[in-house]
Amino acid sequence: MLAKPTMVDMETLVSLCKRRGFVFQSSEIYGGINGFWDFGPVGVELKRRVKEAWWKRMVQWREDVVGLDTSIIAHPQTWVSSGHVSAFSDPMVDCKKCKKRFRSDTDVSTGKCPECGGELTEPRQFNLMFQTHVGANQDDASVAYLRPETCQSIFTEFKNVQTVSRLKIPFGIAQIGKAFRNEITPRNFIFRSREFEQMEMEFFCHPTESAKWYEYWVQERLDWFMSVGMKKENLRLRPHATDELAHYASGCTDVEFQMPFGWSELEGIANRGNYDLTQHMKHSGKDLDYYNEETKERFVPAVVETSVGVDRTCLALLINAYHEEEVKGEKRIVLSLHPSIAPYQVAVFPLSGKLREPATRVEKSLRRFFAADYDEAGSIGKRYRRHDEIGTPFCVTYDFQSEIDQTVTVRNRDSMVQDRIAIDQLVNYLNDKIL
Ligand code: ATP
Repeated sequence: MLAKPTMVDMETLVSLCKRRGFVFQSSEIYGGINGFWDFGPVGVELKRRVKEAWWKRMVQWREDVVGLDTSIIAHPQTWVSSGHVSAFSDPMVDCKKCKKRFRSDTDVSTGKCPECGGELTEPRQFNLMFQTHVGANQDDASVAYLRPETCQSIFTEFKNVQTVSRLKIPFGIAQIGKAFRNEITPRNFIFRSREFEQMEMEFFCHPTESAKWYEYWVQERLDWFMSVGMKKENLRLRPHATDELAHYASGCTDVEFQMPFGWSELEGIANRGNYDLTQHMKHSGKDLDYYNEETKERFVPAVVETSVGVDRTCLALLINAYHEEEVKGEKRIVLSLHPSIAPYQVAVFPLSGKLREPATRVEKSLRRFFAADYDEAGSIGKRYRRHDEIGTPFCVTYDFQSEIDQTVTVRNRDSMVQDRIAIDQLVNYLNDKIL
């Protein structure tokens, strides 16, 4: 068996994603729409698992973080106060010859059009927020925005959440949800799209403690990536230089992943001070401060933010897991996804069509505990290959021996070792390996 250590190229990965039902181009039958993607039956399971893994570690397993689910469209003043209306923009240039548009800070290095070599216009700022209108009138007063990030509503709901949960500082509020950015040049598959999902958490603390919490959250977030199977050598932390930081921030570190197109940001962890709460206090006239009953101190909490994209994380996990091997002269493609995030944790195969009924019974009993699939199409070898390609860690085969002694074969995706296990011990066996 020969492992091929080279990183998968994007073309191969995109084709696997389509072939196996991870990701399709949105509205493909109409020619697609640039920057939008649909997650297929296998992709949606991966995405759900990633979100669950994040939620467990960030909310469920902690006493100091609670969740929130806010609307995608908020009061438009939210985005004025946060600075997005005036400053959430990228510099854009147009080619005078072919009329294509580019981001002048990242897409254009020579000063000429990267597509046709034509002359470019002067850069102008392009606001990335999608606009819409709320209600029947389409005038300036009805303008609203699709949120470009999920976290602003965490700030505007800070007082409500703190009051009802009676949490004392330090504590965090977490949210998972869709965000929209009218990116000038969406690219690299689901890495940069116009509609995506974020998992964000704002941790509110005393200003004198924010540096400590910032260090803590950088490490905690890096650990989370490794807990879902990311290889250490594919990750790195990139602290921002002082001139990269927003004027109110005292620190920001990106978690970067080694993509086929270079080291790229998956997550940003930022020590934002009390800028956001102060801005919303100023513009709304409402108090968003905190009163410490014990010390009798009133203050506006400082905030450490962790902000990660679901789609980018899924892409990184797929690249991290992909490898090719040669087994008996044949190419074997495997996604070695961590069992906790694999779309299917187990698949059940009858050795022969005659064993459909008892094999289905085994599959049904497993479905209550695990994400399970049933497959009886083609040879067992073909079924293994199909499930290797979508990262199923365990495949159970029900054969004629099973009829006699009530045992099945469990084949491990990574070692390819097969164990004979009693059917009534299957749940325990898999639980030990998956959780
Ligand atoms: P970039 O510099 O790559 O545009 P950003 O620094 O603007 O990213 P943030 O505003 O910090 O990104 O957003 C937090 C996270 O949201 C990012 O780390 C990324 O995982 C995700 N994200 C941001 N923009 C996109 C996008 N267009 N498509 C997919 N995910 C995105």
